[in-house]
Amino acid sequence: MTEPPTDRKPPRCHALVPCAGVGERAGTGGPKQYAALHGRAVVAHTLAALAAVPRLGTTLVVLAPADREFERHVPGFDGWVERCGGVSRAESVANGLEALLARGVHTDDWVLVHDAARCLLQPAWVERLIDACEGDAVGGLLALPLADTLKQARGDRVAATVDRAGKWAAQTPQMFRLGLLHRALAAAGPGVTDEASAVEALGLAPKLVPGEIENLKVTWPADFALAERLLESR
Ligand code: C5P
Repeated sequence: MTEPPTDRKPPRCHALVPCAGVGERAGTGGPKQYAALHGRAVVAHTLAALAAVPRLGTTLVVLAPADREFERHVPGFDGWVERCGGVSRAESVANGLEALLARGVHTDDWVLVHDAARCLLQPAWVERLIDACEGDAVGGLLALPLADTLKQARGDRVAATVDRAGKWAAQTPQMFRLGLLHRALAAAGPGVTDEASAVEALGLAPKLVPGEIENLKVTWPADFALAERLLESR
């Protein structure tokens, strides 16, 4: 049987940036995505990197409902902005996916979810992820094989050494089709800490695509100093 004719274009790629966290571990006295880094806000670096990826269509930024800072820190941003952040990262992403669906993004299109706080992102790393995943049935994520020996803590003492063989640290972007990710996050609930774990819970195996050690998420006060040095060296 022949397929019915369709005017549907090949799947496109979009970015979704959860930017609704409070960032209390960073000690910056406010949301870490707005802390100043090398002359501009953390999230401004992140969005500039995504804007330099030609294969990405729209970028949707998910802000906290009460956010009054974004436009001041990222003047002239020409993507989509929604104040629909939730109490957890997963909820912010799920709400952002609803917003993409409401704006008419197709369920077959790819969504690359990227933390606002991973502000050292380089366009070439995003291209690498798209190249590796666009022909894949599931999708995947940037990640790094663990180099250090892993310790399970009990208080400030070692309770056990965890076998590091075959273990990777998950980064972002994480790239999945909108429809699949929407279903996965709805089933997983607000507690998952990345998109891949929600997709895994459906019994699927996302692809591990080698990331970069520089693709760090600024989280602790010392991360800002390191990120500043790395940006200076570019
Ligand atoms: O807190 P964490 O470092 O895991 O946050 C990762 C990303 O998720 C950050 O960009 C943060 O702004 C975002 N986030 C969010 N909504 C939340 C919590 C975190 O959009 N409720």
